Amino acid sequence: MSINFMVDELATVERLLPGLDQRLREVPVAELESDKSPGLGIFREFGGPALMVPKELGGLDATLVDALHVQRVLGARSPSLSLAANMHLCTVIAMPPCPATEELLGAVAKDNLYLASGFGEGKPAASILEPLMKGERHGDGWRLNGTKKPCSLSKSMDYLTASVMLTFPDTGATEMALAIIPADTEGIEVRPLGDSPVLLGSETCEVVLADVDVPDDYISSLGDPQSLNAALATVFHVFELLVSASYVGAASGLVEAVLRQRRGTAAERMELVGDLETTMASLEAVARAATPGGDDPLGVARALYVRYSAQRTVERVAAHATELLGGTAYMISGLSTTFFTSARALAFHPPARSAMAEPLDRFISGEPLVMP
Ligand SMILES: Cc1cc2nc3c(=O)[nH]c(=O)nc-3n(C[C@H](O)[C@H](O)[C@H](O)COP(=O)(O)OP(=O)(O)OC[C@H]3O[C@@H](n4cnc5c(N)ncnc54)[C@H](O)[C@@H]3O)c2cc1C
Repeated sequence: MSINFMVDELATVERLLPGLDQRLREVPVAELESDKSPGLGIFREFGGPALMVPKELGGLDATLVDALHVQRVLGARSPSLSLAANMHLCTVIAMPPCPATEELLGAVAKDNLYLASGFGEGKPAASILEPLMKGERHGDGWRLNGTKKPCSLSKSMDYLTASVMLTFPDTGATEMALAIIPADTEGIEVRPLGDSPVLLGSETCEVVLADVDVPDDYISSLGDPQSLNAALATVFHVFELLVSASYVGAASGLVEAVLRQRRGTAAERMELVGDLETTMASLEAVARAATPGGDDPLGVARALYVRYSAQRTVERVAAHATELLGGTAYMISGLSTTFFTSARALAFHPPARSAMAEPLDRFISGEPLVMP
């Protein structure tokens, strides 16, 4: 049955990654959402890692709106794949320049490599802008120690990009930086994270670094977190939009099932679709309004407003669609169980809504935007 749902998004995927959607549809959801998911392998096979790499470096040169479309479709097929792909795509877009950046992005496009993103460190209420992972000067480079968790893509990653706090030996001054580390570097260990059966296909684990040596060329400054500088503005701008689209995708997977099975009333179906379309339109509007890369606090604030609004919509729509799909689907088929639980995780991506309330309130009152 042909339905008018996610029409533009599916067209974008077909234009940029032809055949991907059909291929993903052929894999049972339970498989895509398992810890042995073929999802990331399939996305790689269709050239997904090159999506946001600029054309001059051999990539597909997709726009931010294209990426929102792709993330929504991925989320509708597999929330796990969408989340893991999101970490890679955001890293590609927001990678601050360092001598190795162009070469790395060229290799990402040519060989379809994956970049994992390690910012979170598993400490409750800790700022992701104050990494505990330490870098000490060692020879011509830096020696890193610490742990990143939860860290998605941890089994398929070709490179780990990790936030680190460098200490300069001459002055004792510290600086936050991003380190780019080949995944097979000695001293990197991937450990299971826990027993939570959520988003298993995203390969979200703990990545431990013990005396990992990184040359200078693979380190780039993330600047002073007290001011929302251009590097951090880009990171948050693209992350908030793309992570929202990923979970709009998870809710869309549930709504698609409601539409195909003609569940609920006409009014209920219209409301579910309308709520998701409204959210997608707001994400696209913010994506179109500004080019990430500038020092644009208003753009970041807008991305946060639409992300928190998306969070509420996804929560409501996923719960309603799950109810309409019924108890049998919930207890036996597993689709609504996995998608509903996965959709809730949008709340857990930084910055948490409550953590961001005071900083956004101060920004609205005319003060600079400072991320918590
Ligand atoms: C599925 C999944 C995949 C992930 N993958 C990655 C990844 O690949 N890379 C990565 O870097 N990270 C990843 N993360 C981790 C993420 O970036 C966060 O670091 C992590 O989820 C934060 O955990 P937490 O909710 O316990 O945070 P906490 O900061 O402990 O927040 C818990 C709650 O406390 C409250 N709170 C916290 N701080 C404040 C404050 N200042 N003021 C008021 N209230 C506050 C909020 O209500 C918040 O929801 C992933 C997370 C999930 C769920």
